[in-house]
Amino acid sequence: MVVGGGPGGSTLSTLVARQGHRVLLLEKEEFPRHQIGESLLPSTVHGICRLLGVTDELANSGFMKKHGGTFRWGLNAEPWTFDFSVSEKFSGPTSYAYQVERMKFDKILLDNARSKGVDVRERSEVVGVLEEEGRICGVQYNDAQGVRREVRARFVADASGNKSRIHKRIGGARKYSDVFQNIAVFGYFTGGRRAPAPLTGNITCASFDLGWFWYIPLSDELTSVGAVLRREALARLQDGPLDKVLEGLIDECPLIADYLSEAERVTEGPYGQVRVRKDYSYIQENFWRPGMVLVGDAACFIDPLFSSGVHLSTYSALLAARSINTTLRGTIDEADCFREYEARYRREYDVFHDFLVAFYDLQKDEHAYFREAKSVIGSSASAAESFAELVGGGASDEEALIGTAPSFSQERRADLLEQSRKIHWQGSRVQVQAHFGESVGDDPLYEGGLVESPDGMHWARPEQPAF
Ligand code: FAD
Repeated sequence: MVVGGGPGGSTLSTLVARQGHRVLLLEKEEFPRHQIGESLLPSTVHGICRLLGVTDELANSGFMKKHGGTFRWGLNAEPWTFDFSVSEKFSGPTSYAYQVERMKFDKILLDNARSKGVDVRERSEVVGVLEEEGRICGVQYNDAQGVRREVRARFVADASGNKSRIHKRIGGARKYSDVFQNIAVFGYFTGGRRAPAPLTGNITCASFDLGWFWYIPLSDELTSVGAVLRREALARLQDGPLDKVLEGLIDECPLIADYLSEAERVTEGPYGQVRVRKDYSYIQENFWRPGMVLVGDAACFIDPLFSSGVHLSTYSALLAARSINTTLRGTIDEADCFREYEARYRREYDVFHDFLVAFYDLQKDEHAYFREAKSVIGSSASAAESFAELVGGGASDEEALIGTAPSFSQERRADLLEQSRKIHWQGSRVQVQAHFGESVGDDPLYEGGLVESPDGMHWARPEQPAF
């Protein structure tokens, strides 16, 4: 059973239900509900979402296409732009992601889970877990009528996000980052400026004295705008009502002030509130224990600068689905499957963590950042390509995260697979898998580690024959 119907929970439940297993998903809210995290990566859109079978629905939803990002950052006085298509892994028709209203995106994924056989129950809040002989074996929850219930399951996956009530039951502490202790204050505007095509849907990130701003065009009219402040600037939040604080901060960042010079803040409905989030960069000491696993933000989250949250959450959901599917099939024991889960999820998290540390050093220009990206992922590609690969979610070694384009030839596929065997890019494999419907090979991460099965939905021992 899965706790939480965000992108992590709906991805995991769909990928397990599609193997014929019974899955119950309990979600506290009734969708649509507001959530932050609107800028997606190509690995999510063309990898995970294709595996889930929502490609057409997303394409028909009118989401803004995001071809890359524009930064006013580092030593460059002028804004500079990167494009996902620079990376061969994301070139061609898969060289974009979407900027999404999470109310719509999360509902698409949750409804899709329901339509794929998951028993989805909204307005059902999990309040505790059941344990027997050291194993987690179910949860307690309040149902939509407020009645306290218990339900038992072979596995409990906590995908209830950063506010999880049950993650502590995994053991170990949630360790908050010493480096990223930022606070975000954000709201929504209509009438913000748009760059000419093809840059119209790009995210813009602009640094200023107290931190940096995101500017995410969600539609022709609506823009999500947020200031991410260093902890020292916390006192600014006490300067007055939050809408005035946000206005004041915008005035201090010339690029964003200019983009919003003719805009108005939305003051009604789900976008009418100025919100604050803090203490959001952390990692749990353990990701699993017998009978229970943490998925997505319940396990970890790192600063939003590279929009990695939904990618990490949905990618971890794929890894957790493989672990649960394999354990239920009985081919490999639970401990080995979840050790694999944790190792791969931590590796992907570390890529973003390590690169973010380098990127927050503002005494560099864009070329230096590109070189840092190449060094972090150990890529043989050029520095600029490595940057696009990393921030596109293709820095790991997953075949299903790249190359879904019809033009993605067998030749190119073979070439990329050969590369993927040699180097470190997990994300790319999930896209190849999504397109070709089968796994194209994998290497163990560590001695005794597992590899993905040919169907991409289980683990196998490296020496195990294909099944
Ligand atoms: P969530 O999306 O949090 O979903 C968890 C679900 O669990 C919710 O629906 C919640 O209602 C439900 N739930 C909670 N408690 C219970 C309970 N007890 N019982 C049942 N259900 C429960 N990510 C990006 O990809 N791009 C971005 O641009 C981006 N910007 C961000 C900006 C900021 C300031 C922050 C803080 C984060 C940002 N993120 C971004 C990260 C993104 O918000 C998360 O990583 C992402 O939503 C994680 O998905 P999830 O499914 O793990 O959790």
